Amino acid sequence: MIPARYGATRFPGKLMQDLGGQSVILTTYQATVKTGLFEEVYVVTDSDIIYDEIASNGGKVIRSIREHDCGTDRIAEAVEPLDIDIVVNVQGDEPFTNREGLEKVLKVFEGEDAEKIDLASLMSEISDWKEINDPNTVKVVVDQENFALYFSRSPIPYPRDKKSTVTFYKHKGIYAFRKQAILDFYRLPMSELEATEKIECLRFLENGKNIKMSVSNSRSVEIDTPEDLKRANLLIKKSKQGVNREFRNFPMVPKIVFGAGSFVQLHDILAEQRTENAPFIYLIDAVFENNAPFLNRIKTEGSDEIIFISTEEEPKTSQVDALVSRLKKQYDGMPSGIIGIGGGSVMDLAKAVSILLTNPGSAADYQGWDLVENKAVYHVGIPTISGTGAEVSRTCVLCGPERKLGINSDYTPFDQVILDPELTRGVPKNQWFYTGMDCYIHCIESLHGTFLNAFSQSYGEKALELCKELFLSDTLSDSESRAKLMMASWHGGMSIAYSQVGVAHAMSYGLSYVLGTKHGIGNCIVFDKLEEFYPEGVALFKEMVQKHQIEIPEGVCKNLSDQQIDKMIEVALSLGPLWENALGANWKETITPQKLKSIYLKL
Ligand code: NAD
Ligand code: ZN
Repeated sequence: MIPARYGATRFPGKLMQDLGGQSVILTTYQATVKTGLFEEVYVVTDSDIIYDEIASNGGKVIRSIREHDCGTDRIAEAVEPLDIDIVVNVQGDEPFTNREGLEKVLKVFEGEDAEKIDLASLMSEISDWKEINDPNTVKVVVDQENFALYFSRSPIPYPRDKKSTVTFYKHKGIYAFRKQAILDFYRLPMSELEATEKIECLRFLENGKNIKMSVSNSRSVEIDTPEDLKRANLLIKKSKQGVNREFRNFPMVPKIVFGAGSFVQLHDILAEQRTENAPFIYLIDAVFENNAPFLNRIKTEGSDEIIFISTEEEPKTSQVDALVSRLKKQYDGMPSGIIGIGGGSVMDLAKAVSILLTNPGSAADYQGWDLVENKAVYHVGIPTISGTGAEVSRTCVLCGPERKLGINSDYTPFDQVILDPELTRGVPKNQWFYTGMDCYIHCIESLHGTFLNAFSQSYGEKALELCKELFLSDTLSDSESRAKLMMASWHGGMSIAYSQVGVAHAMSYGLSYVLGTKHGIGNCIVFDKLEEFYPEGVALFKEMVQKHQIEIPEGVCKNLSDQQIDKMIEVALSLGPLWENALGANWKETITPQKLKSIYLKL
């Protein structure tokens, strides 16, 4: 049920405002129906205007008769005559209502302790002290089983020790009630705590009801002010234009140094960017941890800190969140900058950390296209292995709780890159090949894609030419080869800036999500079997494999359960833009789950 009144105090008539060509309330209604989670969806209102809006668009709407102080009362009146078990209140002013949160709040009633639960609600982690202190943000504390203990506009718990690592939760106004619980709420008088804090759900706690909380970190966009509406309209416009819009306006890395030995300039470059007392944080691949000669070249100052990053596994959203929360607790204010030194994994981690320092919530909230709102902290990328193009790209790929997907945004690219081919000296041969092939595959997928234009083509062709020279000829010296591979990586990355990768990447993401297969080797495993899509590219790839005597693992999906294969397929299919680039707008006709399964089983 979506309670809706016309005259909101802060923003009168907000539910009837125009959002992407239709009213806010109709958008919310349709988004709720579209989740497919409910047997019935109703708008409940006392306003003729809202009633007509929903009814005339074929929606279900109930007119509430009595005057109500709050949405919960409005719902209570509406459910009284209906035969229902559980009712969920959906906020009328959250037009981007997403399935994830609603699903979580319903799932609560499937647990072992379901009997005990009168109602369920959602909370999300917050770590920004300003938000924790903001009385407009309702905080909640829970017991070990996530039952709510108290809700308050004060920071709770109060962290007496400033370095405390307790997690703060913000309450989100979505509830799922058992019918009896909401009827009780309606009959009980407003209680003292509720009246004092002006928080409705305290009435339940004061009357001994059990509220089970579930964590959902997905962001919602609430329309509370005309500015919110403007932002929401912008979001809709962006999503309509989509990632495939004809003329993309994207940023490039604004400053770059190239050349063997250029790493020596790092110190001077950073000196210009240092803000007083704010440290630089170095995220460095742990492969360098015992490499004293290399580390001695980094001149840390003041409270600058080096954090070594294990790249045994690819970066995760939880890893980004943990790093960000640690940095926020450790230092007052923002660092001067984040310096990433390593391969694609560390490049991506550095980009993500710099974004999450200035944007609230979890990294998982920003996986997708253009979801980042605030400019990132100054960040520098220094690759020590070549091929991914992560040093130049507009994305940082992360494994999240639900998917493997990049944070694609205008704030993702580095502010500064240092390309010093000497830094790639220690890379083991197999790894050199796998990561180098990432570049080769970027070229092939971009050059064969439907999104190709002259911009992408010119970068892609150059990178392809370099790859052929690097992996098929014997004419290059070691240092030429290192320098050229670095430039191939750069061009390969640029070539996808205006297009997209394709089949190998989509499938490799699935492999990586389920099996933890790393990007470079995963791409090779998949690409090896993609003759059907890229005949010449795969033939050349096989030549390269042979020339360098690299072994490509086989039979990796042989012993997987149906469930695992299904998850791989789900992850791969969720990457629409990649498939659209590879096969055109009607890609769904060619790539069915069955088709994907047959390819996965060949790997
Ligand atoms: P990686 O960063 O995991 O590094 C591979 C291995 O090489 C690691 O074991 C690392 O310790 C080692 N290594 C790096 N430099 C070394 C050196 N100088 N000497 C010795 N060993 C060294 O792998 P990668 O292939 O560079 O990157 C893969 C990651 O990049 C994946 O997470 C993938 O999702 C991401 N990626 C991102 C983009 C993007 O545009 N953001 C594009 C492609 C891939
Ligand atoms: Zn790649």
